[in-house]
Amino acid sequence: MNPYTIFSDIVAGRAPASRVYEDDDVLAFMDIRPMTPGHLLVIPKVAAPDLARLDSEIGAKLFKVGQMLARALRESEVGCDGVNLFLADGVMAGQEVFHVHLHVIPRTAGDGFGLRGRPRTPPRADLDYLAASIRGALERLE
Ligand code: 5GP
Repeated sequence: MNPYTIFSDIVAGRAPASRVYEDDDVLAFMDIRPMTPGHLLVIPKVAAPDLARLDSEIGAKLFKVGQMLARALRESEVGCDGVNLFLADGVMAGQEVFHVHLHVIPRTAGDGFGLRGRPRTPPRADLDYLAASIRGALERLE
């Protein structure tokens, strides 16, 4: 897959972005179509199209920076009451830009953003069955 997206241009400074944080590995900037005011994206500087191809140290750093930004959002003029961290990995998860990015979404009462209602609790046997399948897949990872 071609790793080039508009985010590569933003990292290189060839496309405009309202930057809020940068270090050697990570860049954070305002989302151009914010879910709520102050919505940020945190991206690795080295493009990876999806989580499977993202260096795990950099993945950890995305979360670390997201955690720091959540605190900054609360203390900024955005003045939110809460924050959602969200990452879409793959088309079926809603990913549109194939350069991994962590959404940092400020929340205030009545902002209208959110996941659909709470599903029912499945039988424990169903949870145990899938847990075993996922443990097996984990053991097969390198
Ligand atoms: P996804 O659906 O892939 O998780 O989210 C992609 C996000 O990137 C969207 O929230 C969209 O608004 C944002 N986005 C797409 N193109 C640009 C751009 O050129 N600049 C900025 N700042 N955000 C972008």
